[in-house]
Amino acid sequence: MQGCERPIDDIDHPERHANGGESTRANGQGVCEGHNLTKEAPGWRTRVSDPRPGRHEVETVTPTGDVHRSQAPPALPPPA
Ligand SMILES: [Zn+2]
Repeated sequence: MQGCERPIDDIDHPERHANGGESTRANGQGVCEGHNLTKEAPGWRTRVSDPRPGRHEVETVTPTGDVHRSQAPPALPPPA
């Protein structure tokens, strides 16, 4: 999530699988364990707001209605 410097612990679905979110690259997000557990708490919502490759933006809405958008970092080049 935006501003988090911790390593990725969990690869998850921004749009929950239980709510019909597909297991696709476009609906994937890598987050630390703490943020993954937080976004599963009541009142939190996440969705992919821009699935374009090279952008992949996830929108997070907190229980107070604050909206945060974060983008995946640039992809690493393929190994030489
Ligand atoms: Zn985090």
